[in-house]
Amino acid sequence: MSEQPSRLNLCCSLPSDAKAANPNLFEIQEVADGIYAAIATPQYKVNSNAAIIVTNDGTVVVDSHSKPSAAQALHQHIRDLSQQPVHKLINTHFHWDHWQGNEVYAKIFPELSVITSERTRHNLTTPGIGVGGVAFINQQIEALPAEIDQLKNDIVHAANAEEKSRLETHLQQAEAFLEELRGLNPILPTQTVAQSMTLNEGGREIQLLLLGRAHTDGDLFIYLPKEKVIITGDAVVDWMPFLGDGYPEEWIGTLDALEQLDFTHMILGHGNVAPKSHVSFFRSYLTDLIDAVKRAAADGATVAEMQVAVADQLAPQYEQGMSKYPLSRYRDRIESTIEIVYHKVVHAH
Ligand SMILES: [Zn+2]
Repeated sequence: MSEQPSRLNLCCSLPSDAKAANPNLFEIQEVADGIYAAIATPQYKVNSNAAIIVTNDGTVVVDSHSKPSAAQALHQHIRDLSQQPVHKLINTHFHWDHWQGNEVYAKIFPELSVITSERTRHNLTTPGIGVGGVAFINQQIEALPAEIDQLKNDIVHAANAEEKSRLETHLQQAEAFLEELRGLNPILPTQTVAQSMTLNEGGREIQLLLLGRAHTDGDLFIYLPKEKVIITGDAVVDWMPFLGDGYPEEWIGTLDALEQLDFTHMILGHGNVAPKSHVSFFRSYLTDLIDAVKRAAADGATVAEMQVAVADQLAPQYEQGMSKYPLSRYRDRIESTIEIVYHKVVHAH
């Protein structure tokens, strides 16, 4: 069995443990010499993007998606890019869709270091923190049967063949995901970062930066100053950001700190590689959203009223830019987002 499957014979030379790996889960883009973005194909059970940093003495991978089969699929691509072992895996934050594939790398590379911020380690190991961590695996397992029943019911009542086939794909993904979760072996960080630091990896300078609270209280940014590339996790994404475990007002200051850095390419937690200018769009969305919710609350609007008025008020500027992919679009998320902002920013004071 070849250790170097070429793209042409990839179909027939997979190791047996990778039979379930889906070659269509990621699109690999070279962002700078030896630095690759693995852009996840949008799926019902979402996968994070990953970054692959090839160095002279080992490969560094950032984030491992929602499930081992996705990490396995990406590892097939990594084998095409470098013969060096993966010796460091960084998780940008604790959410389920960024770390649940860790076990794949730990199994293949016993010397692997898994690196997160100190807060992320805390969040991974403390129950009830938010949508990720060891305890959240069981929460997903408990919630999925009802979700699967709902999908089955929706399939029966589907309005047309197209809708039915879309829901059938979702059902298939949900069932496969439940199976993977039941066998999941959660791999925790072996090394944590309490303040910003620099790794010198086989000739590359890789900065691990804590710029402030944003999407979570432990967001880690991975910055390659020479190549002018930054990996943001979900502190910057190209669709509607999830604010449930976030710090909306502090997030803006963290984006200000991000903008001070010199870079040309951002590998985001979700969505395509973006230019630096995307930070401005993303920050102004958060700023305008918070301002609008505060103003509506000051005018005495109820949350239900804001969910209509603020959503429509921001739509001309943000609906299009926040709806580029077939999931997490503006209208899918704006109502719940407004409610979250209200509770975190207005009601909290
Ligand atoms: Zn994510």
